[in-house]
Amino acid sequence: MSGVDVAERPRPEPSDLTRPFWEAAREHRLVRQVCDACGRGFFTPQIACPRCLSTAWTWTPSTGRGTVYSATVVHRAPYPGFTSPYHVVMVDLEEDWTMLSNLVGTGEAPVAIGSAVEVDWLELEDEITLPVFRPADEGSGR
Ligand SMILES: [Zn+2]
Repeated sequence: MSGVDVAERPRPEPSDLTRPFWEAAREHRLVRQVCDACGRGFFTPQIACPRCLSTAWTWTPSTGRGTVYSATVVHRAPYPGFTSPYHVVMVDLEEDWTMLSNLVGTGEAPVAIGSAVEVDWLELEDEITLPVFRPADEGSGR
């Protein structure tokens, strides 16, 4: 996969809070927290809802489909494990939440804002699978 040196890529370190996210990712399921009180979905993982501060929330599946809200192409990798150029994107998921990730499968050309994308999975090792995005398959019945 372009843009990634799997052996050198920095690993997240799951905490008690984030472990369910990483366990779902390992099973190729994208989840985010949804507040039991106000219904808002949020990411990155938080101990309390950023809208109403409720600590009652539930890990909830996402379709992994969305559109590019913002994007950039990085030409100078900051760490070993990133092979430039690579894409960094903010994705608006269709359940009204946002995720920062990488875009793969597009070559080096910048991606258009509003492009349809869908989650894909980058296996780093047995314990860690990273959600990344790739252009949506227009034939997938969206
Ligand atoms: Zn809330």
